[in-house]
Amino acid sequence: MAVLQRNKIFINFNKFFSTFFVENLWKLCGFFGLATPFGIPTVPRLRYYNCMENTNAWLKYDNPKPVMDFAEDYRKFISQNKIERECAAFFIERAREDGYISIEEAKKAKKKLKAGDKVYASAMGKIVAFFQIGKKPLEAGMNILGAHIDSPRLDIKQNPLYEDNGLALLDTHYYGGIKKYQWVTLPLALHGVVAKKDGTVVKVVIGEDESEGVLGVSDLLIHLSADQLEKKGNKIVEGEALNILVGSIPLKVPASAKAASKDGQKKNPVKENILKILKKKYGIDEADFLSAELEAVPAGAAKNYGLDNSMIMAYGQDDKVCAYPSWRAIQGLPKTDRTAVCLLVDKEEIGSVGATGMHSRFFENAVAEVYDLCGGYSELSLRRALANSNMLSSDVSAAFDPNYPDVMDKKNACFFCKGIALNKFTGSRGKSGSNDSNAEFVAKVRKIFDDADASFQLCELGKVDQGGGGTIAYIMANYGMNVIDSGVGVLNMHAPWEITSKVDIYESFKGYRAFLINA
Ligand SMILES: [Zn+2]
Repeated sequence: MAVLQRNKIFINFNKFFSTFFVENLWKLCGFFGLATPFGIPTVPRLRYYNCMENTNAWLKYDNPKPVMDFAEDYRKFISQNKIERECAAFFIERAREDGYISIEEAKKAKKKLKAGDKVYASAMGKIVAFFQIGKKPLEAGMNILGAHIDSPRLDIKQNPLYEDNGLALLDTHYYGGIKKYQWVTLPLALHGVVAKKDGTVVKVVIGEDESEGVLGVSDLLIHLSADQLEKKGNKIVEGEALNILVGSIPLKVPASAKAASKDGQKKNPVKENILKILKKKYGIDEADFLSAELEAVPAGAAKNYGLDNSMIMAYGQDDKVCAYPSWRAIQGLPKTDRTAVCLLVDKEEIGSVGATGMHSRFFENAVAEVYDLCGGYSELSLRRALANSNMLSSDVSAAFDPNYPDVMDKKNACFFCKGIALNKFTGSRGKSGSNDSNAEFVAKVRKIFDDADASFQLCELGKVDQGGGGTIAYIMANYGMNVIDSGVGVLNMHAPWEITSKVDIYESFKGYRAFLINA
């Protein structure tokens, strides 16, 4: 607050004395630390001045190739890894290439972990933590990046498949906060697994390959929408109406078998035909839906966005747009003083609950195992390791949208192309449910980002009374560690296709890496 006040005085003064001479005299006085004319405080350093001015990060790059190359790697990643299981598997595979071994493997080999060693813990294929051991004992604390890899979507119900007037459909139950009307008339794909009674788990991806059909939810034609359009936004399309159309060809019963059935045809021939296809392709029966996790997500690859190709349009960027640079920040990291951690969690979109959510003991248990492998584990030293840690909760922020300016306080909003969005607090109304990060820690993070030339901005989610949101920050803060939300600004957040700025993604990567080394 005090800093913004100072900036305000500075700008007003400039308006008052709008001559070139006064403006530059003012800056020079500030730069050399001299007393300012008229005793009004001014900027202590030019860098500080730039930060408050929120310079566009693209302007730092004469050649934006590193920005574009990083964004292309990310675009490919997010095109193929749309759900938490796929992300966890992708990062584990990359980590193993980078020299990581699982905690189980380390235990089996009776390995004593030392500085530079790399281990990971994972559970149920949906949550994973990567640790690179630091030179200092674990008790000194860790530098942690924490993002989530689940995203809003339509989950397939456990008894989903039915036929209605010659069409086969799948019943869904939406996951996370969505505007239901955004999920109709879109090409959808199914991603997930079917666990069978014999213990096998079948991986399913339907609708991504050009040779396969996509799926989707229909909407009412405008010609007959008089009643629908009178409804409130949250009722235009209701949850139970989000049924996915999957087929229309009936199963033909061979002439020889016709006699067995009264009318010479199966009862639900279109549904039967879909089951036949699933059996042939994946070896699964209708009952196997009972133990399946299938997620309907937008089909197709992520896109470059904008006439200048400066943005990315993709499904699930909340929060894979922070998970990916978090992983890249720890990948190939040189030896650090403090242990570096990249934590990628599930279930954030539904309150961080469950065995793979942040409220679980997964992370605490993983740190205990790592401590044991380092030697010197005790309950007390584990508590100290957690309390002495620093964390960036790498989660997205709502970017300013010129189409909807009224929900933002422009002075404290997140803007595209202005770097990492630091949310000192999230929550709603009177900071309810928020981790309000400590000022001293914010100062430390500012210095790390400045020194690494990683552009950043301090922002709020939106106007105070407009709503709110949360991340995993407040859960980690329960250990007494320093945490601040730090991520990429997103347009269309939680819509099927979200937009991000390529330069913001790159600045986040730079900031995250500097944090792992220097926090
Ligand atoms: Zn979200």
